[in-house]
Amino acid sequence: MHDVIIIGAGIIGCSAAYYLSRFHLKVLVVEKGPDVAVATSRANSGIIHGGYDPQPGTLMAGLNVLGNAMYPQLCNELDVPFRRCGSLVVAREGEEEELDRLLAQGRENGVPDLAILGRDEILSREPNVSPAISAALYAPSAGIVSPWEMTLALAETAAVNGVQFIFNTQVTGIQVDNEAVQAVETEGGSFVAPIVINAAGIFADQLARLAGVERYDIQPRKGEYLLLDKDLDGYVRHVVFPVPSPVSKGILVLPTVEGNVLVGPTATDVSNRDDISTTPEGLAAIRQGANMLFPKLPLGKVITSFAGLRAVPADGDFVLRSSAKVRGWIDAGGIQSPGLSAAPAIAEKLAGLVGGLIDLQPKAQQERPPVFRLRDLPLKEREGWIKKNPLYGRIICRCEGVSEGEIVDALHRPIPALTLDGLKIRTRSGSGRCQGGFCQPRLLAIIARELGISPLAVTKSGPGSEMLASYLEKGGGQ
Ligand SMILES: Cc1cc2nc3c(=O)[nH]c(=O)nc-3n(C[C@H](O)[C@H](O)[C@H](O)COP(=O)(O)OP(=O)(O)OC[C@H]3O[C@@H](n4cnc5c(N)ncnc54)[C@H](O)[C@@H]3O)c2cc1C
Repeated sequence: MHDVIIIGAGIIGCSAAYYLSRFHLKVLVVEKGPDVAVATSRANSGIIHGGYDPQPGTLMAGLNVLGNAMYPQLCNELDVPFRRCGSLVVAREGEEEELDRLLAQGRENGVPDLAILGRDEILSREPNVSPAISAALYAPSAGIVSPWEMTLALAETAAVNGVQFIFNTQVTGIQVDNEAVQAVETEGGSFVAPIVINAAGIFADQLARLAGVERYDIQPRKGEYLLLDKDLDGYVRHVVFPVPSPVSKGILVLPTVEGNVLVGPTATDVSNRDDISTTPEGLAAIRQGANMLFPKLPLGKVITSFAGLRAVPADGDFVLRSSAKVRGWIDAGGIQSPGLSAAPAIAEKLAGLVGGLIDLQPKAQQERPPVFRLRDLPLKEREGWIKKNPLYGRIICRCEGVSEGEIVDALHRPIPALTLDGLKIRTRSGSGRCQGGFCQPRLLAIIARELGISPLAVTKSGPGSEMLASYLEKGGGQ
């Protein structure tokens, strides 16, 4: 029996697990995917928004601004790279009024240090931006983070502090008796707890329906992206937005914490909640949008494309509440953008809702084991590490400079990588220019060796994505 079950190991479920791991509670996270950050928390822009965009008075507005303020210290504590690069909403002649509206809205939301910049100031900050840009709204508090590293760091810290995670386990039913939650049902059996947090992303409305609580509806809205090579590091310095449309913040161009340039996302409503395909039309729209902001951006340097699904709630705001119909059920649904930015503040709010149902006794929180990143060290320091562990001297992913030692570490961490995608989010192996063309067979062999499994059982992203149909071994094989 647990005190709290969290459904979903995205940024929201893992943030909630992290904050709840500060208390004497038995917490279980149940995730249908093979790892943390397998859904929307893996495929987004990674922006910690300033908070001028949401409607004043909404949960989105308040929690965005609060979450943004929490990020620097949280990332410092968790050893997750975070860059407060600032954002610019850029306008052409005739669009400046929209900047004034956003400025006033941002001030009402409590966003610090907003300012309108003229053309010269914009060009000194972003020399490659379109000369047609005449003004911009500057939000210095906006930043960028790796959303999957953040999710993983929160989850690992929660795990070190006693939170249990189970993967490849889909919640299929909710047991409710006497108008109170009793258990969640999965194909692998039932898990009993008096409190359940529904952090199931684009499926949260369906789970709320299973529990028989207050109804809400989620519309999945797809966002496609292009990722450009790291040799463009520095080409774009801020998160650069066009003026927003009623359904999205538009096609933006931004740096990533890893040094790539990211372009996107589109905004297309879809009916299939598993549809994360990219489309020729979507990618063409991204190229066109990018050209409007940075006419000379070398779009030939695309290394991959991907898409994610926004969980757009029908009434527009986050659904964060304890059910009045079913005691113990807490919804964290409709967490569309700026959900990543707001996540720490959402999690504190969720912990408060749990505190309204059960007595919370604080306990000291331990740190997760440090993450060793060879590429961050000066050459001289690397030598010492390689002497201690020669595997740090064997580079497996050449594009990103990831060593075998780091791969082996990732396979034995508090929440270990068990798949190729799992290694990718932990070490960046396979994320570079060749997208795994060079390192994938080596990664596959290391996973099989370290986990003591057949190479045939190694998957890209869990059951059904096995990489090999057969293989040849020296002196025999299959
Ligand atoms: C294109 C795009 C761009 C975005 N850009 C930004 C941005 O720049 N900044 C920002 O702040 N926000 C951004 N967002 C929003 C942000 O990504 C989301 O708010 C956030 O990732 C939502 O996290 P989550 O944990 O609610 O959902 P998810 O990450 O989707 O996690 C939900 C988890 O629940 C699991 N699950 C579902 N059903 C079940 C079940 N029945 N049983 C067990 N597990 C289940 C899923 O497998 C999944 O892992 C963007 C979103 C999109 C799509």
